[in-house]
Amino acid sequence: MDRLAEYFRDTYSTLLARVSVPDTDPLSEHAHDIARLLNLSLLAAPVVVAFVVEFAIFGIWQLAVALGCAGTVMVASPWIYKKTGSLPIARESFLASLFAFKLFESIFLASITSPGSIWFITLPIVAILLGSVISGLFWLAISTAGFFILHQLHGSTSRMASYLPADMNFLYTFSLIVLGLSVTTFVFMVEASRKHANLRLQEATEVIRELAIRDPLTGIFNRRHISARMEDAERRARSGAGAFHICLIDLDRFKQINDTFGHAVGDVVLQTVAKAIQAEVRDEDCFGRYGGEEFIVLLTGSEGLHPEAFAERIRRRVADLAFAAGAGPDQVTVSIGIAASRDGECFSSTVSRADGALYAAKASGRNRVVAAGETEVAGAASHSGMASSTGHPAPACLH
Ligand code: GH3
Ligand code: MG
Ligand code: MG
Repeated sequence: MDRLAEYFRDTYSTLLARVSVPDTDPLSEHAHDIARLLNLSLLAAPVVVAFVVEFAIFGIWQLAVALGCAGTVMVASPWIYKKTGSLPIARESFLASLFAFKLFESIFLASITSPGSIWFITLPIVAILLGSVISGLFWLAISTAGFFILHQLHGSTSRMASYLPADMNFLYTFSLIVLGLSVTTFVFMVEASRKHANLRLQEATEVIRELAIRDPLTGIFNRRHISARMEDAERRARSGAGAFHICLIDLDRFKQINDTFGHAVGDVVLQTVAKAIQAEVRDEDCFGRYGGEEFIVLLTGSEGLHPEAFAERIRRRVADLAFAAGAGPDQVTVSIGIAASRDGECFSSTVSRADGALYAAKASGRNRVVAAGETEVAGAASHSGMASSTGHPAPACLH
């Protein structure tokens, strides 16, 4: 059963790809309208065959041929779209041939009392579902006029008496069953394609959401996401959830690596270091790229965790990384500044103190971990005459 469904899905996708004009955005309204046109023509095919066979069996050949011609245009409407590139032309040719199809039948069989005349109500519905309200209003007017004209013609053009005196009931039953089946199938198709489109939209939204929070080079979180997470941590800390820690990690003399081996190797180093740090970070903590060659780890719920030991593990792990001889640096090291949040402190101040500690680590020889002192004030680096390691001014506290 699954394989059959898969087969139909694949065949349908191939057909849709053939019909669609290249570069059509699959999520656009236009793409939905094309899919509906294809759905309708696929649905029309068995309906046309059923009516043609029915009237051929009853020996009403002129009607069978006329319906066959009108039905062929209906079924060919996706091809008309493909050839003209115009959805309105394809849509209107489908609707005009559907109108002709039912008009032939009604005029041949019993004017307004023909089993086919009720089908006129599908015209404005189909027009609107194919993307045009104006066309829907137009076909509403035409089908209403059609009802009126057929009513006026009743009696004068009815060929019923000469063709099918005894089988009117069968024709009604047949027409109603096919109408019921067609409408149900069409609604099912609309619903299935809506669900499918929704699913694709969800997938696309997920991709966009993921792109919005990831750094494209390393795949780790970006600064925007980390900042949002730090804001959450600050809020939780204010409501008594305990302190959080910030580790700012900066590659040592990274400019030299770029200058010696080129920017591309520099990028690989960044990716490799990011991967190595990620391996040390627990699921509940948050790790991201904070700037060019600077990473940040937000340690929340730091119970049982020793931030200095954690930072030391990262420092060692990075220092132990091996790069291909000649194609990269012999060794890459990082300096790390740590700060624990204080009561009532905004996260930007905590980051600023971690930055001060990072600067101290750089100043005292690099490749080391320094924790911000208990008594230090926010932006200690700049207060004590030291420049910030990031070169950025300490962000203003919002609270
Ligand atoms: P320090 O030890 O004091 O941190 O020295 P440094 O050379 O690491 O620091 P500096 O700020 O002088 O240089 C950082 C360099 O990082 C400069 C910049 O070109 C490079 N960089 C920033 N982003 C990227 C990136 O995405 N890819 C590569 N390859 N390099 C980058
Ligand atoms: Mg650096
Ligand atoms: Mg830096």
